[in-house]
Amino acid sequence: MSGSDPMVVVDGLTTTYRTGRTEVRALRGASLSARPGELVAINGRSGSGKTTLLNLIGGLDVPDSGTARVDGRDVGALAEDDLLSLRRDVIGFVFQSHGLIPVLSAAENVEVPLRLARRPAAERAERVRVLLSLVGLREHAEQRPYELSGGQRQRVAIARALANRPRVLPADEPTGRLDSETAATIMPLLRAVVRGENVTALVATHDRVLLGAADRVLNLRDGVIAETGGPPEFSPPPH
Ligand code: ADP
Ligand code: MG
Repeated sequence: MSGSDPMVVVDGLTTTYRTGRTEVRALRGASLSARPGELVAINGRSGSGKTTLLNLIGGLDVPDSGTARVDGRDVGALAEDDLLSLRRDVIGFVFQSHGLIPVLSAAENVEVPLRLARRPAAERAERVRVLLSLVGLREHAEQRPYELSGGQRQRVAIARALANRPRVLPADEPTGRLDSETAATIMPLLRAVVRGENVTALVATHDRVLLGAADRVLNLRDGVIAETGGPPEFSPPPH
């Protein structure tokens, strides 16, 4: 895929949050690019700006300056209708807390974005079946979120994010609320998704397991992205 164009190009994003008299410069010129089929981890300690960055890429927020381009479109400059369609059709967000609808079954939760996109019933049913198989939950389709484990819920959230065949999958600490054993099962799933659906996954995390499975690790520090490769604490131990 080395010849393919980048799907996500972030250039010089800055964001300052102002609360009362304090200013937090969350991003100070963050830049990155990512290609289709790439699993990119965004590593950084709590407060380093990971969520801010993903929200800008996902069109949930607007930067002070700089651009986030997704599939060639400048996300921060889109009119509302275009932004809505970008978020529905091109971007599939996975949040730290799964955000599933409690009264709906796993299958119905996955179906929600397909309904919003007005896909026909037969197509919805087939896509839900494929996605629940992909995330290993075919046997759990009828269970509601409270009848599923934390890891299973996050799998449903991933399946839901993939419903409309997004090109870009921002995932904000998808294992942040999971125990390490369960967390370890999520990265192979994301890997399979990235390959199987040829998406660009941007995974904010400081989970070593997730970092280890990424194609590239970008380090977010002081509001900018340092070169690829792990920070010293994540480098392989010397032999
Ligand atoms: P991360 O996801 O890496 O933990 P965030 O992007 O959430 O980092 O936050 C980056 C910085 O911006 C932090 O210092 C945080 O306190 C601040 N921040 C984030 N959101 C807001 C907000 N809505 N209002 C004020 N400050 C914020
Ligand atoms: Mg965050």
